[in-house]
Amino acid sequence: LFRSIMIKRKGLVTVLSGFSGAGKGTIMKHLMERHGDIYNLSISATSRAPRTGEVDDRDYFFKSREEFEAMIDAGQLLEYTQFNGNYYGTPRDYVVDLTEKGQDVILEIEINGALQVREMYPEALLLFVTPPDATSLKERLVGRGTEAPDVIEQRLALSYEQSFQMDKYDYFIVNDDLDACVRQVHEIIQAERYRCFRNKENILEMQDELKVFAKGDKK
Ligand code: 5GP
Repeated sequence: LFRSIMIKRKGLVTVLSGFSGAGKGTIMKHLMERHGDIYNLSISATSRAPRTGEVDDRDYFFKSREEFEAMIDAGQLLEYTQFNGNYYGTPRDYVVDLTEKGQDVILEIEINGALQVREMYPEALLLFVTPPDATSLKERLVGRGTEAPDVIEQRLALSYEQSFQMDKYDYFIVNDDLDACVRQVHEIIQAERYRCFRNKENILEMQDELKVFAKGDKK
């Protein structure tokens, strides 16, 4: 009776954010390994130097400070921030182009940027990832071995301040079991796509089709 009317919606912008050391990068890596066919991971631009093993255009678009500032001036970034003395930002076109086509995009970014995305896209899905407790947060930062002790101290102090932003997010995810965590992120995103407020166009179309059955309508 009905034409197949559904599946008309913009792609979902998901922001995976949370404390530095919460394991966001690892979660994203596993999520993309399992579901890379349905998710698009936004690659950020940064002015920080590549770490060993990092590849330009894959892990980040590595830029000089000048190049990064030119991107800001040209309006090419959806959000950006300075973190630990370096610029980080999300290129706008990738996110806009894919979501216009109905594809889902995930941003793995820090908290300041996440809240900027919230302003820009009130309908974005914000996920906050945290380690099970403060001790394991510190252990992860130390264990990662990529940051100097004073940087770790700074990041922990920042985590305290950022803990007051958690209630601005849609979901709170504790990363104590990586596998479970990756599954939760996937399931939340999938369920989120069916929220009524994300399907306004489909609802209108359904109402329009049902009009012929309206009482008193002799069409
Ligand atoms: P790292 O230098 O360890 O790769 O990243 C430092 C922090 O910057 C991480 O918390 C990471 O999520 C965040 N980050 C990476 N890309 C972006 C971005 O495009 N925008 C913002 N706001 N943060 C980012």
